[in-house]
Amino acid sequence: MISRILNFSKLFLLPHLRWLIITLITGLLTAAASGLGVPLMVKFVFPIVFWDGAGEQPLLMQYIPSLQQIQHSTLLLLACASMPLVFAVRGVAMWGNHVVVNVLGIRILESLRTTVFHHVQQLPIAYLEGQRKGDIVSRIVADTGNVQNVLSHVANDLVKQPITCICAFCAFLYLLFSTGSPEMALVLLFIALAAWPIISFGKRISMRAQQAQAELGELNTVVQQNLETQREIRAYALEPREIADFASASVSYKRNLVKLVKYQRLIIPIMETVTALALSFLLISGKQSGMGLEDFLALAAAMFFTFDSMKKAGQAFNRMNEAQGSLMRLEEILNEENPIADPQNPKQMPPRVRGDIDFRNVTFAYDTGKPVLKDINIHIPAGQIVGLVGPSGAGKTTFANLIPRFYEVTQGSVCVDGMDVRDVTMHDLREQLAIVGQQALLFSGSIKENIALGKPGATEAQIQSAANAARVSIFLDNQPQGIDTVLGQGGAGLSGGQRQRVAIARAFVKDAPILILDEATASLDAESEREIQQELDSLAQGRTTLIVAHRFSTLRNAHRILVFDHGRIVGDGPHDELYATCPLYKELFDRQGAV
Ligand code: ADP
Repeated sequence: MISRILNFSKLFLLPHLRWLIITLITGLLTAAASGLGVPLMVKFVFPIVFWDGAGEQPLLMQYIPSLQQIQHSTLLLLACASMPLVFAVRGVAMWGNHVVVNVLGIRILESLRTTVFHHVQQLPIAYLEGQRKGDIVSRIVADTGNVQNVLSHVANDLVKQPITCICAFCAFLYLLFSTGSPEMALVLLFIALAAWPIISFGKRISMRAQQAQAELGELNTVVQQNLETQREIRAYALEPREIADFASASVSYKRNLVKLVKYQRLIIPIMETVTALALSFLLISGKQSGMGLEDFLALAAAMFFTFDSMKKAGQAFNRMNEAQGSLMRLEEILNEENPIADPQNPKQMPPRVRGDIDFRNVTFAYDTGKPVLKDINIHIPAGQIVGLVGPSGAGKTTFANLIPRFYEVTQGSVCVDGMDVRDVTMHDLREQLAIVGQQALLFSGSIKENIALGKPGATEAQIQSAANAARVSIFLDNQPQGIDTVLGQGGAGLSGGQRQRVAIARAFVKDAPILILDEATASLDAESEREIQQELDSLAQGRTTLIVAHRFSTLRNAHRILVFDHGRIVGDGPHDELYATCPLYKELFDRQGAV
């Protein structure tokens, strides 16, 4: 835990050093006002209030002789005013401390959240595909929220209570040894006894909290999957199964929370019982040693503040243990390394490559370890339009995904214009590529903004010309605000074909030398596909284009076709030649019937 806290502090506390110092100062003031101020008031100021002007002078007057010059009635007034003064100082310092600590907590969490999200953007696609998305969302939103919630509740106690405890304990020791009897020192044993529940429950709380957060992640995953597959759920009447899945995830979450609450709430009654025991011990031994009421009250006040601040520090410590569960889950993401990183000394790519692509002895396996591409050697000259065909699962999409370096080759190399894709930055490499996938992924925002994403800083004229080239314009008339119409999440409000046109316009505006069309029309009906094919053909002109095809009709302009089978290229050539020489190609082609 210590190293985790140190690491966390270096990353997230040091940048806010100024706020930390203010927190410490205000915490110190509050603590001193409570821990020292109140018991010492009882010991030194109360006797002045109850002094009748005759008899032995109160201690404070003996220590500060100048007080003896002040009139008795004025002294009384001053003594009475000092109590609200101590509480006013405590109140102002406490307010300042709470505000500063909360601001600090919010700032720290903001940087933590952003750091984790930033890190997720750099993690390999394979990692993100392997993880349950709901759980990642839960870590970024719920776990940081949990840490923030805990911090805002306990952060001021983390500083204030231990200092109050030390101040009150010092006052207690002073009073004990100046006015008490030696056997009263045995009360210190109770303090040791009080520390036990705090330490003993810490571990369990941390473990339960981590489990509870993991279960919250599971709950999020169930909800996310459920919302994403509503059509299937309704069509196949899967609602009871979904409800059962949710209920079971929810019950496990609840079970852990209940256990967590039990441990958390146990600490207060235990501490309070120990405090009462210590007080009665003090009362009995004080009475036996003939201690006066004001000495006893001062000692009791100091002891109360010692125990009370210890209890609150313990509570804060245990809530921090709860936050630790979340911190560990965030740390898991932050510790996840990206094996696909930019090179230390990247080579400079020209602003616009020609578009030659080479696969040299490429073998590739996903995490499962089974090669899905085997010893591929292929040269695609710039400007060539290449179709990739083959049975499902043969490796076509994987082949295309190696060019933008979404995955790293297991053996061999992939080169663009003779440069290994591992020798240049991913940013430079991906600047040279446009990809249109099966599902056009649109973001919330206007149609225009969605097109402009292809090229940051695109001019109005460039966006308009891309929209015309992709014939987005043909459906803009039906949109309430034309190209400025705001789309829902995922492009809600447009048909599949219309979304695909926006994605094509995005590729047009990017104007990259290499184009990958990965089953770009697979999700469209034949009619929409025919309509869009023309725009795709014109987009491909003059670019090195890879078309992962499920229908041969999309390959009518391909100069060359690569036939994939079980991770190998078993045919390479133009349609006529392959039809005559490659049995697999002939079989696939005949099955579909026509070009
Ligand atoms: P195609 O595009 O020809 O249908 P893919 O390239 O998508 O084929 O898949 C090739 C093989 O790799 C298949 O056996 C598939 O199951 C496997 N595969 C695809 N994506 C992954 C992944 N993310 N993790 C593990 N295996 C995968």
